[in-house]
Amino acid sequence: MTKLPAPVARRRTFAIISHPDAGKTTLTEKLLLFGGAIQLAGEVKSKKNRMQTRSDWMGIERERGISVVTSVMTFEYADCVFNLLDTPGHEDFSEDTYRTLSAVDSAVMVIDAAKGIEARTRKLFEVCRLRDIPIVTFVNKLDRESRDPFDLLDEIEKTLALDTAPMTWPIGRGRSFAGTYDLRRPQVRRLDSDAAPIPVSGPQDEAIAALLPAEEVSAWRDEVALAQEACRPFDLASFREGHLTPVFFGSALRNFGVRDLIDAMAELAPPPRAQAADARTVEAHEERMTGFVFKIQANMDPNHRDRIAFIRVCSGRLTRGMKAKLVRTGKPMSLNTPQFFFARDRALADEAFAGDVVGLPNHGTLRIGDTLTEGEDIVFRGVPSFAPEILRRIKLQDAMKAKKLRESLQQMAEEGVVQLFLPHDGSGAIVGVVGALQLDVLAERLQAEYGLPVAYEPTRFSVCRWIASDDRLERDRFVDANLSAIAADLDGDPVFLASTAFSLKYEQDRWPAIRFTDVKDYQ
Ligand code: GDP
Repeated sequence: MTKLPAPVARRRTFAIISHPDAGKTTLTEKLLLFGGAIQLAGEVKSKKNRMQTRSDWMGIERERGISVVTSVMTFEYADCVFNLLDTPGHEDFSEDTYRTLSAVDSAVMVIDAAKGIEARTRKLFEVCRLRDIPIVTFVNKLDRESRDPFDLLDEIEKTLALDTAPMTWPIGRGRSFAGTYDLRRPQVRRLDSDAAPIPVSGPQDEAIAALLPAEEVSAWRDEVALAQEACRPFDLASFREGHLTPVFFGSALRNFGVRDLIDAMAELAPPPRAQAADARTVEAHEERMTGFVFKIQANMDPNHRDRIAFIRVCSGRLTRGMKAKLVRTGKPMSLNTPQFFFARDRALADEAFAGDVVGLPNHGTLRIGDTLTEGEDIVFRGVPSFAPEILRRIKLQDAMKAKKLRESLQQMAEEGVVQLFLPHDGSGAIVGVVGALQLDVLAERLQAEYGLPVAYEPTRFSVCRWIASDDRLERDRFVDANLSAIAADLDGDPVFLASTAFSLKYEQDRWPAIRFTDVKDYQ
């Protein structure tokens, strides 16, 4: 493997995956504190509040106390540049989450020590597995009553089919939680003085016994002996391939164990990975700039109707003022105001390297999934579109505004808020979403930004599939035979709409040469 240039080798681009309430926000705050990105814990939430008051449509977020938007936070620690991509915290499935995970090189999985693996963690993990993203596990809330560590490790192994390697071991739990024992080198971190590890002779050391209630000491020694014998040792290659997760124990709230976690991210988490494009794989060490748009955020500042496209740089150096080619249109684009985002601020980015995420303000030029290069015609894969599970027609209260609605829907679709399908038979546009919350977001934004009050009407369709065939004529025959159930997506690609899963199956059986797919890579 070619050596990565120094600025690339020190990038760590990651996301935190967890179930709501496991402690993602608290951990994020603590990680940012280590990076010196914020002075006081609590600012992540207060920042969110500020953003909310700035932007009307985020009223939904305020009402429901959830985070609908993805953002990026950049900070430096231990000679590394960390780009932390925030995945939306709500339970509703969102394509945003998938797209965000397409832009990271590793992930931290936060687990509530009392609850273990929960539904959303599992779902997010499965997305990570699709790309073999290495995962570091943080078992949180050890300061509360929690489950047996062996039990938790076992659950990770069994439910996620992921090997575990405990890196630390809790000393006491719940009320008697006093710190962690480092399984790799004999040292202890005490809950009350996380910063300075205390060297010990081993698990038998009296210094550890002094931290535990007398009646728990011998059971704890047995436990550690068992952990050292029976658990898998950490294996870097296996971790990097996504087969094994190192596990840390701690309490984000008490800012304990977070240092071990971030040190491990600096030491073990991978630098920017190679990214698959249609024609070839792009290596992070390549000199020419490439990148793709995985997120578009509108109206971060309502005074300027700006849209920020978040681009993950995959190779080369993105410099302020450079000209890049937008491959979808073939046109050049000047990157005049690329921005970095921090916990509190954004700042103009003079240069960014592979692994970095920069925001590019634009007025609708950039779409989700777009590739930017220094001239090469390649398109990055892996920013997928998922077949919507909910399909609705939009009912406009003021028929005079139909044209405005069409334009605004097109824009929302380009931002990835919803998918838009135009039926071949000329009937009204259909919007598709994967999670119901997206419908609320759309309605609120149409109202707030375009003054369009809308309601939704059911359609007779409930299933949507992209259709393709190696035999072009056969595809055309299928389209002709099903004209009232065919629509075009934003790119003009045909989809088949079925009323039930049963009728989809019926057509699949009748048309074996047609492929019906529920995932489409943005082209
Ligand atoms: P998120 O929904 O995953 O972002 O979770 P939050 O970070 O908002 O945490 C959810 C709740 O758990 C909050 O009340 C936190 O104060 C609490 N919490 C987070 N970490 C810990 C911890 O380590 N110990 C305890 N006792 N509570 C925690």
